[in-house]
Amino acid sequence: MSVEQAPVQRADFDQVMVPNYSPAAFIPVRGEGSRVWDQSGRELIDFAGGIAVNALGHCHPALVKALTEQANTLWHVSNVFTNEPALRLAHKLVDATFAERAFFCNSGAESNEAAFKLARRVAHDRFGPEKHEIIATVNSFHGRTLFTVSVGGQPKYSDGFGPKITGISHVPYNDLEALKAQISDKTCAVVIEPIQGESGVVPADKAYLEGARKLCDEYNALLIFDEVQTGVGRTGSLYAYQHYGVTPDILTSAKSLGGGFPIGAMLTTTDLAKHLAVGTHGTTYGGNPLACAVACAVLDVVNTPETLAGIKAKHERFKSRLEQIGQQSGLFTQVRGVGLLIGCVLSDAWKGKVKDILNAAEKEGVMVLQAGPDVVRFAPSLVVEDADIDEGLARFERAVAKLTQG
Ligand SMILES: *Cc1c(COP(=O)(O)O)cnc(C)c1O
Repeated sequence: MSVEQAPVQRADFDQVMVPNYSPAAFIPVRGEGSRVWDQSGRELIDFAGGIAVNALGHCHPALVKALTEQANTLWHVSNVFTNEPALRLAHKLVDATFAERAFFCNSGAESNEAAFKLARRVAHDRFGPEKHEIIATVNSFHGRTLFTVSVGGQPKYSDGFGPKITGISHVPYNDLEALKAQISDKTCAVVIEPIQGESGVVPADKAYLEGARKLCDEYNALLIFDEVQTGVGRTGSLYAYQHYGVTPDILTSAKSLGGGFPIGAMLTTTDLAKHLAVGTHGTTYGGNPLACAVACAVLDVVNTPETLAGIKAKHERFKSRLEQIGQQSGLFTQVRGVGLLIGCVLSDAWKGKVKDILNAAEKEGVMVLQAGPDVVRFAPSLVVEDADIDEGLARFERAVAKLTQG
């Protein structure tokens, strides 16, 4: 049945791909649960999870079923028409969260783009053009479009592309006084990652989010939570805002939402949603039936008391073993994070050398991530088997031992 494919290798990347990534030396070709195999048949344990995307591991039967059934039914109709999977997904998200309305797109950046445009539109309609300023936090990450790198504010992502979007300021994360000093009647939105993911797995303090909520209410500003990384069970709650007990006005979701199939969502209230009237915003692929059918299946598995409780238990399993490894090796000083988004903060001697650790781990057959230059990040499947956690961490421990003992 299968058509003969031309053989390809890692070296092909440097010949035919835009060089904006620097992928690992091996090419994964197959996955099952929390295991991945490369071209040579070598097996690895996957604690990277496609950067917090493969919420149910690789080729989860429920997702394969949803995708193949939908693939045999209807692929795409555009937003000139609606479709059943999109409406079902919207119902599920509305039922499970504060939100009353959903907008679908294809990535985290697009969900944030929609959120920022909505926030500006609401302020424009209600208060006029003066109220357009967005406050974000230092070291935040919201995606790679020009608007989202401008809001993220990290020069390494935003410099060198001409004029940035203006009207954006940045305050230190977890610093309520700094936010209080910056917010004004011109502020249309404050955007916060409940846990800063890309820049080191830094959880917000509950009091910080509560204070931000209060300030936003005081200044008629919208509170946006970027839950692209923290959403869909990652923290052991469906969304991190539920873990913290602080409700935003707009929430963005992507990554785990599709479990590996591209989809993004912006969630909000009816009152705010009405400002994106017909024609104000859109995307051809957003709400695609394949993506929405898969996301429905992801939510059906993740949003159950068993799965969510399992995530909290697995957190403890990771944390206690990682703390042990950190103490024995002197490699890291702290293990932080919530649920299955975990960061190991490197000790001074290892700061900036996180790539060495990733490479050593891969050699021992375990895939992990970095989060900035000084943090090793774990974002495994939310249903990773305990046996895979134990085996993967044993491999990680061997890698660390080899590295630290020369
Ligand atoms: C990954 C990420 C994004 C960007 O998502 P893409 O799908 O890569 O566009 C935005 N915000 C946060 C918090 C993320 O972790």
